[in-house]
Amino acid sequence: SSRRIAGLGTTIFAEMSALAARTGAINLGQGFPDTDGPDEVVDHAVQALRSGRNQYAPGIGVPELRDAIAHHQQRFYGLTVDPDEEVAVTTGATEAIAAALLGLVDPGDEIIVLEPYYDSYVAMIQMSGAVRRPVTLRAPDFRLPVDELRAAASPRTTAILLNTPHNPTGTVLRRDELEAIAALAIEHDLVVISDEVYEHLTFDGVPHVPIASLPGMAERTLTISSGGKSFSFTGWKIGWATGPAPLVQAMVGAKQFLTYTSGSPLQPAIAHALMADDDFFTDLATRLQEQRDLLCDGLADLGLDVFVPAGTYFATTDIRPLGFEDGLDFCRRLPELAGVVAIPHQVFHDDLDAGRPLVRWAFCKRPDVIAEALDRLQALR
Ligand code: PMP
Ligand code: GLN
Repeated sequence: SSRRIAGLGTTIFAEMSALAARTGAINLGQGFPDTDGPDEVVDHAVQALRSGRNQYAPGIGVPELRDAIAHHQQRFYGLTVDPDEEVAVTTGATEAIAAALLGLVDPGDEIIVLEPYYDSYVAMIQMSGAVRRPVTLRAPDFRLPVDELRAAASPRTTAILLNTPHNPTGTVLRRDELEAIAALAIEHDLVVISDEVYEHLTFDGVPHVPIASLPGMAERTLTISSGGKSFSFTGWKIGWATGPAPLVQAMVGAKQFLTYTSGSPLQPAIAHALMADDDFFTDLATRLQEQRDLLCDGLADLGLDVFVPAGTYFATTDIRPLGFEDGLDFCRRLPELAGVVAIPHQVFHDDLDAGRPLVRWAFCKRPDVIAEALDRLQALR
């Protein structure tokens, strides 16, 4: 195998979902809902399948989806993007991230990335030949350490790869934190690639703020999102990127030779979903917040230290109060100990000590499933 993929191994999500399938454990690992999105959206996809929309869509996506994405950015954030020049549809956010890195950074460039990081970031930074400069969000509050962020920038830095709401910590970056990132980006003339796939999954009234909406940032930010999380269709892999034409074009420059296009009949269905009324988005967050509370209360009752997230569908715990030290070892044994699967933070870290005792639990599951998992976890006491 190539040096490009050296050391990347198998993604933790594949390892842990295979473990769940093999052992029959309840999968609170990989983040996917156990309930599909709206029937109405499925009906749109079926209609598209039945009406001959089964050949290649345009490389940048069907016009109605690009229009809906542009409309969504205006409606929720007051961001104006031209659906023909400043929007491109991708095969999930994953491809947008990959193509953005391949199309925007050069070998040897340094990329600032929040740690713990979503695992594809590290893989794609490596495949693009760039070098990661992690800035660590640390327990117990997982806030952005602004001094460390500033210290991470060097003359070789060309980009910041941001994620808010943040997987796996659940941190939703505040405006003052985003302002610090924006100031650094402007000072060093950096591009910001902002992964906002959990944009609609925030709780307790905490708002999601796209960094592109800050002064001076729209012109240097490529914003990435996906229908997977907002509409509970993670398997459809309809994602997108929005931003200034040169950044979108650079992303598309790589994307056109990765997949060219995908998901023709699913694109109009996601276009329809994006036009849902406000209640759809608030109901989704309200339901998830209830599931978050159910899971977090139960994990705290078990004696774990719980870090209650303001966004995403993941909660983090420190496992040391139950006598465990190493999250990876704990997660590999958890199916046998308690019939549950979770995800260790340490695989998302260069700073192993910061992540070692932390474990991530997904709550995008039906309340009865969360209750059953908590019941099983009693075995840990
Ligand atoms: N970014 C983050 C932070 C994620 O958690 C995920 C997860 N699924 C993705 C990107 C990938 O999104 P998609 O499934 O749309 O490729
Ligand atoms: N984003 C989801 C998670 O963090 C799923 C990731 C994946 O399967 N690649 O669990």
